[in-house]
Amino acid sequence: MARKTHREEAGSRIRNNDDKDNIPNFGFFGKYLARYVDSCYPLSNFMEQTLVLIKPDGVQRGLIGEIVGRFERVGLKMIALKMVHPSHEDVDQHYALTEEWMKGVYEKAKAKYDAKGQAFPYSDHVAYGTEIKRGLVEFLKSAPIIAMVLEGEQAVTLVRKLVGATEPAGAAPGTIRGDLSLDTYALSNTQSRPIRNLIHASGTVEEAQKEIPVWFTDTELHKYEHVNDRVQYDPEWFLS
Ligand code: ADP
Repeated sequence: MARKTHREEAGSRIRNNDDKDNIPNFGFFGKYLARYVDSCYPLSNFMEQTLVLIKPDGVQRGLIGEIVGRFERVGLKMIALKMVHPSHEDVDQHYALTEEWMKGVYEKAKAKYDAKGQAFPYSDHVAYGTEIKRGLVEFLKSAPIIAMVLEGEQAVTLVRKLVGATEPAGAAPGTIRGDLSLDTYALSNTQSRPIRNLIHASGTVEEAQKEIPVWFTDTELHKYEHVNDRVQYDPEWFLS
């Protein structure tokens, strides 16, 4: 008798009801169950889009491929990607100078100084935030950057996890900033410039919804079939 191929072997294991150690056989009803669950909890409820910029330091250090590769490797779908030399207006619109943002920038930096037992030499979050934003605008418009939109389950949180903390020296190993950059608040503040941390990534879904149109038109956001549309997200994948 001819030996079964690995594929036939796997197929017969999945279809064998008596084989309790293997993947459960939901069979005929499984498909209907999967379709029912999908209709109650549509996949679109779980999917997000997020904006990522590779800043001039990432582009000029030749890290585009490495950074894009990390997002691809985790299974996110790239739906838009381009190199752009931003105008003043692009960056100004992108980094909205809100009270919340200025407070966030100020508090994060102050916490780092506090943790080292050093006095934080700034007292006004508005003046501090405004200065950081001014530096960021100058930095981002100084050279080409890469803009991309990634799509997937919880894409916003997932990308922030891969990117790591704002200060590279404190970012966890394994993150993009932790592995590929080393800047500190202390040095960047001494040199009156933004921290060189390679990447911008949207912080929330609402932020992503505001940021994506700054860099891409609707027609530049592409629809196509990615292997994960099937292997990761299709509830019927292993039943068929
Ligand atoms: P993140 O990029 O991690 O979301 P923020 O939104 O707080 O961080 O800040 C935007 C960018 O501004 C940072 O990525 C960094 O380049 C720069 N930046 C923020 N805070 C400071 C700071 N205290 N000193 C210098 N640059 C800063």
